[in-house]
Amino acid sequence: MIVKPRYLPMRLHVNSALAQRLAKNHPILPSLDNSSSRVEAGFQGEVETDFQLQFLNDKEHHIFRDLRLPHSLHPFQLDCLILSTKAIIHLEVKNFTGTLFFDEKFKQFYQTANAVEKGFQHPLTQLRRQSAQLKEWLDSHGFPSIPVISQLVISNSSAVVKTNDFSIRRLVCKADQLKTQLETLIGKDTPEVLKEKELRKLSRLLLKEHTIMISDILAHYHISYDELIKGVQCPSCEKYKMERKNRTWVCPHCLFHSRDAHIRALLDYFLLVKPEITNRGFREFTCLSSARTATELLSRLNLPHTGENKWRVYYAPPDVQAILEEKWKNSRNRLRSFIRR
Ligand SMILES: [Zn+2]
Repeated sequence: MIVKPRYLPMRLHVNSALAQRLAKNHPILPSLDNSSSRVEAGFQGEVETDFQLQFLNDKEHHIFRDLRLPHSLHPFQLDCLILSTKAIIHLEVKNFTGTLFFDEKFKQFYQTANAVEKGFQHPLTQLRRQSAQLKEWLDSHGFPSIPVISQLVISNSSAVVKTNDFSIRRLVCKADQLKTQLETLIGKDTPEVLKEKELRKLSRLLLKEHTIMISDILAHYHISYDELIKGVQCPSCEKYKMERKNRTWVCPHCLFHSRDAHIRALLDYFLLVKPEITNRGFREFTCLSSARTATELLSRLNLPHTGENKWRVYYAPPDVQAILEEKWKNSRNRLRSFIRR
């Protein structure tokens, strides 16, 4: 059963929001587009791997797609986690093309594609680090006995994998070999280490501990808050600064009316500035003059909040990723240049 579905990566939403709020000739836009292409390719590889996991017995396996768990140093991200009463399988998915060489003598990893050789951070180092973090997390939550099986999955079916140490065969497989690989690693005779009840408990705990990542994108690209275009964007003509008139947003350019166009602006703020907002911050970002209207709009959204009156702080809802995905599905324009599917 799929306990946690896979959503579009937050980074795509962040990049899209940023591209929409920068001047059309901003020098950062090409890098933003490159970043989105990379994230999109990675996402496609993960979706391909999800497809290959359909053979798993639905009742016996709890599947978590794209899980991010807290750790004493930094939260760690797992592309896919499969929980059963026998083991936890952790999959790290890479979508490399071309010929991939795992040089285990010098601990190097490189890709040859279109006659160009390029080195990358060794994926098995990352896999081992994540595996150790997951074991620590399980220990600290009272599940020390469950074995963790980590696998690096090469999602691109045309990629060629080479190595000078065949013992890594146990750790690396192509997506289309995943079924055979997992059947080899966990056989019918593998003993059960968790009871059904414990499995459900661990499953609930993983879901509860999952956190979304909202990166500090402005700092990453050295962009100041002042460079962001402020105001509510018109969902029809995409121009900015819709005006609030008679409890509705009106576009001064095309006269389109919207009752909830401020929600998109609020999501942009959460993605680009910080995952919390005050009444003043909301007014500044949406170019709204009335504090009373801002209070009315914000309180109607039932966001988690702390403090009262002018000190009230509203937080991004925990299911913001699902909300963003829904918004994207309903939008003709958002992410248009980033996702082609
Ligand atoms: Zn308009």
